[in-house]
Amino acid sequence: MHLRFSDPIWQKPRTATAFQSLFPAGQCVDVVIVGGGILGLSTALHAARLGLAVQVLEAGEIGNGASGLNGGQVIPGLKYDPDWLLEHFGLERGEALVNFAASTADTVFELIRDERLAVPFVRNGWIQAAHTETALKAAANRDRQWRARGADVRLLSRTEIATMTGAQGYLGGWLDRRAGVIDPLAYTSELARVAAAAGVKIAERQNVMQISKNAGIWHVSTESGAELKAKAVVLATNAYTGGLLPGLAKTIVPLHSFQIATAPLSSNLAAAILPDGQAVSDSRRILVYYRKSADGRLVLGGRGRMALPNGPADWAHLERALLRLYPALSDIAIEKRWFGRVAMTPDHLPHIHEPEKGLLAVVGCQGRGIGLMTALGERIASYLSSGDTRQLPFPVSPIRPIPFHAFRQVGVAATIAWYRMLDAFER
Ligand SMILES: Cc1cc2nc3c(=O)[nH]c(=O)nc-3n(C[C@H](O)[C@H](O)[C@H](O)COP(=O)(O)OP(=O)(O)OC[C@H]3O[C@@H](n4cnc5c(N)ncnc54)[C@H](O)[C@@H]3O)c2cc1C
Repeated sequence: MHLRFSDPIWQKPRTATAFQSLFPAGQCVDVVIVGGGILGLSTALHAARLGLAVQVLEAGEIGNGASGLNGGQVIPGLKYDPDWLLEHFGLERGEALVNFAASTADTVFELIRDERLAVPFVRNGWIQAAHTETALKAAANRDRQWRARGADVRLLSRTEIATMTGAQGYLGGWLDRRAGVIDPLAYTSELARVAAAAGVKIAERQNVMQISKNAGIWHVSTESGAELKAKAVVLATNAYTGGLLPGLAKTIVPLHSFQIATAPLSSNLAAAILPDGQAVSDSRRILVYYRKSADGRLVLGGRGRMALPNGPADWAHLERALLRLYPALSDIAIEKRWFGRVAMTPDHLPHIHEPEKGLLAVVGCQGRGIGLMTALGERIASYLSSGDTRQLPFPVSPIRPIPFHAFRQVGVAATIAWYRMLDAFER
């Protein structure tokens, strides 16, 4: 699954090691987890802490998937606001879901603190920047709902957002101080380190090819010949889901998110651009998101083409967005370009499936998975240990392939082109 051009600026800690640890073939472990991203590793860590014997199998290296390639913006909440969740899921489940969604950034920053993870981070909030009156109204509505629940959030005026971002063109915005930024590759790598220290066996370069059940025991085999037996299997392959479980890949629309990183900013530019280190997403239909990295670069991302990129020109739309926001960066070099895959579901919610007892699959991060997948991993581990479905924040749902899946992807590409045009008109 090695992706050409996916060479992020993010760094594993210098002490990071390779993982090649496998349980013996004859031993039946409690859980085999397929996929060594944030979800797989968080599930593994918490399951091991609950006393389970856990094996993680990762097709590439730890961090090769979305977890090591993303924008590092740790944002609580889901795509939906609290009122929508209550209306949609009912009072009891909706309330539990809102509380879960509110806690996801805390889960990440508490893990970094409590486990002493070597992860560069700044926790100074996330700005949702509005460039239209409609977006401002949506921000005010979101602000009202979260403030009523005591969240540390507030609206930003045009002057405030200009000072905080140094960017052009925003009418105002919303600041969620629960959020922050991390180095996502360091985080994923450190999750693997503490999971291994807690007793999890992790093996990289183990592409799982087959999962079958015999006499109540799961048999998992990999391309390089490893064979494992387990009481339960968790598919934590998300946007990189292949054909292991019939129909699963067709429940998501995988999109590409592309990113660029500038050369380190001069001290003058660094003082004017995001001086307090917040993360930003804007309100355009095809949004861009940006932040500064620990080594002082501006990192900006957004939706990319559906096909694999051919060369730097495929990131040109992000360079244009960068200059629209920050004309002062017209001479700065773009030193890195990379991309990764995001899993979207039709209802924009993550889905938990359990098609057979002991076989779990989780897909659909909607591009906001650092907090969500960390917190969900903890809940999945509790469920594996207790069998109590109340541990799961989302109801277990059947695998429902999206009708006309292949056409849907073509439709997404056309919609992106259309939205880009509308965004251009609203400039
Ligand atoms: C470019 C980009 C920017 C993003 N920005 C943000 C952001 O700023 N904030 C945020 O919260 N979220 C962001 N996201 C989303 C976030 O990265 C994901 O939600 C999260 O990393 C998903 O974690 P995961 O563990 O579920 O999946 P992944 O990290 O993708 O892990 C899945 C793993 O499964 C492995 N795998 C697949 N098939 C097999 C197999 N057969 N055998 C063994 N292993 C297999 C893959 O190699 C992969 O490592 C972004 C995503 C992308 C791509």
